Amino acid sequence: MGKQQVNRYLHRIREYCGIFGIYGHPEAANITYLGLHALQHRGQEGAGICSSDGKQIYIEKSMGLVADIFTDKRLKRLPGYIAIGHNRYSTAGSSSLKNVQPLVANFSLGNIAVAHNGNLVNADELRQRLEEEGAIFQSNADTEVIIHLTAHARGSSLKERLIQTLQEISGAYSLLILREKELIAIRDPFGVRPLSLGRFDGAYIVSSETCAFDLIGAEYIRDIEPGEMLVINDNGLESIRAVHSPHRAHCIFEFIYFARPDSYIFGGKNVNNIRKSLGRILAEEAPVDADVVIPVPDSGMPAAIGYSEHSGIPFDLGLIRNHYVGRTFIEPKQTIRHFGVKLKLNPVREILNNRRVVVVDDSIVRGTTSKKIVKMIKELGGAREVHMRISSPKTIGPCFYGIDTPTRRELIASSHMVDEIKRYITADSLAYLSIEGLQRAVPNPDDYCYACFTNNYPISFPGEHLLQMDLFIV
Ligand code: AMP
Repeated sequence: MGKQQVNRYLHRIREYCGIFGIYGHPEAANITYLGLHALQHRGQEGAGICSSDGKQIYIEKSMGLVADIFTDKRLKRLPGYIAIGHNRYSTAGSSSLKNVQPLVANFSLGNIAVAHNGNLVNADELRQRLEEEGAIFQSNADTEVIIHLTAHARGSSLKERLIQTLQEISGAYSLLILREKELIAIRDPFGVRPLSLGRFDGAYIVSSETCAFDLIGAEYIRDIEPGEMLVINDNGLESIRAVHSPHRAHCIFEFIYFARPDSYIFGGKNVNNIRKSLGRILAEEAPVDADVVIPVPDSGMPAAIGYSEHSGIPFDLGLIRNHYVGRTFIEPKQTIRHFGVKLKLNPVREILNNRRVVVVDDSIVRGTTSKKIVKMIKELGGAREVHMRISSPKTIGPCFYGIDTPTRRELIASSHMVDEIKRYITADSLAYLSIEGLQRAVPNPDDYCYACFTNNYPISFPGEHLLQMDLFIV
């Protein structure tokens, strides 16, 4: 693979999303709407729902937030007892309805709709091959590659064709597939993204995170296993070992930042508990004399509680978040992001004035947010000292498996020492959690992907050798 091709690959669109599906309920679309609402944090750019009444597939999708898109009128256009839904995460340059999922296709075995969370690492090569064979693509989503491969595969049943497709695709994928009379859930062999199975009112539910189960009152049954294909139809559940799972590589960043604290992921572990442990271990590794511990809301909240618990320094809410703005990080332009921190956060002078403050956040990516926050806490809040504590190790590598990280060049910790970053963000001290500390916080630490902190990528991808040799700086 040439440098140009690698470049194209590394900068193409990625899928950072939430998915939800239900089989066997007369209000399938309405419940999917609620499920997507609970998964809104996994993607705010656009959303879609596909349903089936056993005869026909219906689809409604649009740019925007779930609650704005799905009016009563729209939900009424989604009849049936099966449904899948998808929340799409925003990335620069790819904001377009054609990339909003589910994607629907019609081929020899009938109609299918596909919703995908994750990122294939060989999608470009597969797309090129398919295009050479005559395939015409309508979007630049990986999901369409999966659809074309399935259409091209041999076999008389969809199951057989999907199994063939899974042998060809590589990377991170949690997939939901809807047919007229069937729901299929698939998880990649490494189990990178979460995907759980639940039960509600006689129906089966599959969701990226269990927080969606809680909203509707569903019961968690288990995770979809890495490499498993779960077929749900009139005959009940059929579990198929569709692709060999060599080892697990769950995304550790789901625990650090991405998943909701009230969810139970990766074998039923509560995200909030893990985040609090990260904070406790951080306090043990990087103590400091201070008067108050404050979180950067909302992402730093559980870790700040953990830090406060372990250190004995009182916890308080020194920054107030305006919840009516989206995650500033996903704004496409740097100029908007700069403005965004102030739009989102305001310091509480009563808590900060003349105090020595520990500020806990989950991660530093470019350093922009931390710099603004430290300035804000000092200048507007009146803090005497600001000690930044980060409940994850230094983010030094981009993610190729579905987390929205910028290029390596933009990751401040990839080219700067902790002390340099401390000076850049103008904090009085700065400490990150160690890799060992992070591993202490999770049971079975070998089952996780730490690539963004180590540059060791568990699923190899085209151009990886260039990345490792630093010939190609992303
Ligand atoms: P930055 O200003 O680039 O250093 O961004 C750091 C902030 O972005 C932290 O407060 C994190 O909580 C948040 N963050 C980290 N990773 C992501 C992500 N993949 N998507 C959105 N926000 C993120």
